[in-house]
Amino acid sequence: MDSIDLYRQLLGLTTPWTVQRVEMDIPKLHVDVHLEHAPGARFACPECGGEFGVYDHAAERRWRHLDSCHFQTVLHARAPRVRCPEHGGRQAKVPWAEPSGRFTHMFEALAIDVLLATDVSKAAILLGITWDEAWHIMERAVIRGRSSKPQTLPEHIGIDEKAISKGHRYMTLVYDLEEATVQYIGQDRKQTSLEPYFEAFPPEALQGVQAECDHRNRWTDDRLG
Ligand SMILES: [Zn+2]
Repeated sequence: MDSIDLYRQLLGLTTPWTVQRVEMDIPKLHVDVHLEHAPGARFACPECGGEFGVYDHAAERRWRHLDSCHFQTVLHARAPRVRCPEHGGRQAKVPWAEPSGRFTHMFEALAIDVLLATDVSKAAILLGITWDEAWHIMERAVIRGRSSKPQTLPEHIGIDEKAISKGHRYMTLVYDLEEATVQYIGQDRKQTSLEPYFEAFPPEALQGVQAECDHRNRWTDDRLG
């Protein structure tokens, strides 16, 4: 298996996307993986899902992906653009990342696991990203968690405080313990931090909620200092 096939399989790419070339910089422990789609492929308008041929491409973008054997791995591609009769020129979605994301879905999933197991500063160091990038990954995860089921309060919620920076600022996180998703991030660690979360639900939805402040497994309390 050559490096192109290897990365095509590791990335789980499916038609029409494939790996065009792989460039390794061994002294820098860095791999650039260039992706392309098959000629003649059709892509969906992100607004209506209608499929159209490609009329041009956006500028090349890069997405940080999971490291491969300690090599920092970056994907490169030019997203195709379609011209929808109803919505005009639109950039098609790429299957490995959010439209505006700088990281792949797989990298973000790892980052969220690391963020939940530690605090933002340590997660940023472990992942090799900045504090702001780690924080934005967490925020986007919450937005996704909320938008997927806007009116359903999880049956088992976990509430946890996490240090944002050593011993100074805190945030309060609400987890859906069954789905293992972050539902909400509150500023600070006061009880009032949670009010906006619960106020979003109708009162009858709040009956029978079981909340746990869980300090056992991966949602460990990581108060520093
Ligand atoms: Zn459209």
